[in-house]
Amino acid sequence: PIYLDYAATTPVSPEVLEAMIPYFSQHFGNSGSNQHLFGWEASDAVDQARKTISSYFSVNPSSILFTSGATESNNLALLGLLEEQTPGHIISSPLEHKAVLEPLAYLAHKGWEITYLEPNSAGEICLEQIKTAKKSDTRLVSLMWVNNEIGVINDISSIAQWCNQEGIYCHTDATQALGKLDLSQAFLPDLLSFSGHKIFGPKGIGALYVKSGIPLKARQWGGAQERGLRAGTLPIPLIVGLAKAVERIPHLLTFLPQIQVKKQDLENSLKESLGDSLIVNSISENQIPHILNFSIQGVDWEKLFRCMPLLAFSNGSACNSKSTFPSHVLKALGRDNDTALASIRISLAQPYLNEDHDWVKDYLVKSLEKLIS
Ligand code: PLP
Repeated sequence: PIYLDYAATTPVSPEVLEAMIPYFSQHFGNSGSNQHLFGWEASDAVDQARKTISSYFSVNPSSILFTSGATESNNLALLGLLEEQTPGHIISSPLEHKAVLEPLAYLAHKGWEITYLEPNSAGEICLEQIKTAKKSDTRLVSLMWVNNEIGVINDISSIAQWCNQEGIYCHTDATQALGKLDLSQAFLPDLLSFSGHKIFGPKGIGALYVKSGIPLKARQWGGAQERGLRAGTLPIPLIVGLAKAVERIPHLLTFLPQIQVKKQDLENSLKESLGDSLIVNSISENQIPHILNFSIQGVDWEKLFRCMPLLAFSNGSACNSKSTFPSHVLKALGRDNDTALASIRISLAQPYLNEDHDWVKDYLVKSLEKLIS
């Protein structure tokens, strides 16, 4: 099948792979071994990677902590900052990834009060809503920079600036923003999470940016790695790969206009041929061009997913062993269960530009036309 699921994950780019290979078996040292060359080579590679990543964001190298990915970064940010404090108030949104919603649910269980701001039907949240929700004991605002299902962008720089003035901590899950928006000049919040595998880097590596002075506490104990904030031997090949992937972000950003054209073309063709059966869910004016999310009304969601075996896309349902749930994001936008279940997320990226776009469009449209007829 043709891959249309780049928001789920991306392949490791050849440049990233090439940078990683020597660190698997040639330079295999432990960066914590400070008595010999093998360790020094490894720790130099980590230092260099930290510099590359921090210079992309124009921040201090010591503010970048390596983690296993955005899930861990989010957990460390939220629990490492708040779990040991006296409970107060947090502002977030129902559109967040589970990797934020679940740690927040845990904090709620520990006595924290959480306000989930209500997005409009396009998934947008504005600063005014945050100002209104603020309470005297609001300690943190946590909002994602870009939503992974519908691609809507939050104005995190303005939100972070306001939080800064108000003395409220600000965290963002930037997993879907990195490589799709230029964050290099942005005003950053106090804490920012991301993963390597969404930007053509390896899986199992990510980072948390922690602004200096933020009183983060470890949530995992052992060795003194990562300033004592994240114990465990560092995965040098993955770290080198993450840095290479970050270094290549300016290159990724050059493809945005072409990706926008392809996505818009798919969307226009679907609108023309499916009429009222189509509900586009990714409708904000303010969204990344990579994601097209739509529902097909009046069709059985299982039939919908099976009708296009030659395309690999994602759907708006979450399954466990017993049942299938509609996407919590589409539900929060006001979609009913059937519409939320019968949804498809197509997410594009630069390698798609080499695919036969006209064939994909034709196959997509014809398969769906057949389904609704
Ligand atoms: N946050 C967002 C917005 C995501 O899209 C994802 C990945 O799907 C994650 C967090 C989790 O990333 P990882 O599985 O790499 O920890």
